[in-house]
Amino acid sequence: MVSNYCPKLTMSKEMINISLANPRGFCAGVERAILIVERTLEKYGAPIYVHHEVVHNKFVINRLKEKGVIFVESLKEIPNSSHVIFSAHGVSKAIVKESDKLNLISIDATCPLVTKVHREVNKLSNDEYTIIMIGHKGHPEVEGTIGQIEKNSLATQIHLVENIEDVNNLKVSNPNKLSYVSQTTLSIDDTKKIIEALKDKFPLIIGPKSNDICYATQNRQEAVKKMFSLHDLVFVVGSKNSSNSNRLLDMVKDKNIDAILIDDMSQFQSKWIKNKKSIGITAGASAPEILVQGLIQEIKKITKVSISEIKGVEETIIFKLPKI
Ligand code: SF4
Repeated sequence: MVSNYCPKLTMSKEMINISLANPRGFCAGVERAILIVERTLEKYGAPIYVHHEVVHNKFVINRLKEKGVIFVESLKEIPNSSHVIFSAHGVSKAIVKESDKLNLISIDATCPLVTKVHREVNKLSNDEYTIIMIGHKGHPEVEGTIGQIEKNSLATQIHLVENIEDVNNLKVSNPNKLSYVSQTTLSIDDTKKIIEALKDKFPLIIGPKSNDICYATQNRQEAVKKMFSLHDLVFVVGSKNSSNSNRLLDMVKDKNIDAILIDDMSQFQSKWIKNKKSIGITAGASAPEILVQGLIQEIKKITKVSISEIKGVEETIIFKLPKI
C-alpha cells in the first residue's frame, strides 16, 4: 500500500507553545564587525577581503559573499594594496605584521572585548608572567590571543588548557608567577571549574578582575537556563563553528532536554517536533533574528503555535566603529 503521508504537510491538531529566549542572537561585537565590512564595501567597492569568517554564521557569510566579500584563511591569497578586514575573533601579532609586509590596508573588526583580553595578555607578558589560556584549541580567537605572544619570546610562555585534565597534566617552569585568561565565548560553569582547578594546583595564580567571558555569552547562557524546566525541545539557532552557539547547545543537552543546532531552515525536519508540546528557541551571538523567524515559519507550516518571549536582561551595549 502506498502511503499518502507527507510530513511537511501534516497539520498537527495540537497547539505547540514556543518561547523565545532573551537576549538571543546578535551581540554588539557581531553587529559592529558586520557594519565594518558593509561600510568598507560601500566606501571602497568590491572586492573586499576578510581574514577568516568575520563572524561564525553561514547565512551572514553567504550574504556578504554575494555583495563581493572574499573570505581568506591566508593573507597570501590577497592581491597587494587591497583592503583586508580582520574578523571579530581577533588576530595574532604575526598576522598584523604579515599584512603590513604585504602592503595590505587593514581594518580591524576584532571585538573590543577580545581586544581587552589581548591587552591583558600583553600586560602580563610585559610583567613576565607565564600565562594559561583557557579555550578551545584551533578556535581563531584562541589563536589570536595566544599569538599576542610572539613565538620567539623568551620572557613569556603561554599554555592552552581546554579542560580539567589539561590542568592536571600541566607543568610550568615558575608556578610563582602564573596568570590565566580565557576565551570570551566559553561555558561560564565549565570555566569556573577549570579556574578552581588551576587555583587548587597553583595557589599563587592570578586572573582578571572580572571574568573574560563576555557579557553577551553570559547573558545568552543565563537566558537559556530559564528554558530548562519549561521545554521538551530547544532549538539553538547558530552555525556549527559558532563557539557560543555550541555552548548553549551543550547546556541544554546536559539537562537531558532535546536540543538541535540549526542555521539553515531548508534542513528543518517535521519529525523533530513530533509529540513536542513546548519548544524553546534561542540563538547564538552571531545568528541574525531573520533565522529565528524563519524557524518559526517552518514550525507554523505544520502545526498551530502560540509564541511568547521569556523576559531577560536588556542589552544596550554598542561598540564604536573604527575609522574606515
Ligand atoms: S560574543 Fe562577545 S566577544 Fe564575541 S563578538 Fe560578541 S560581544 Fe564580542
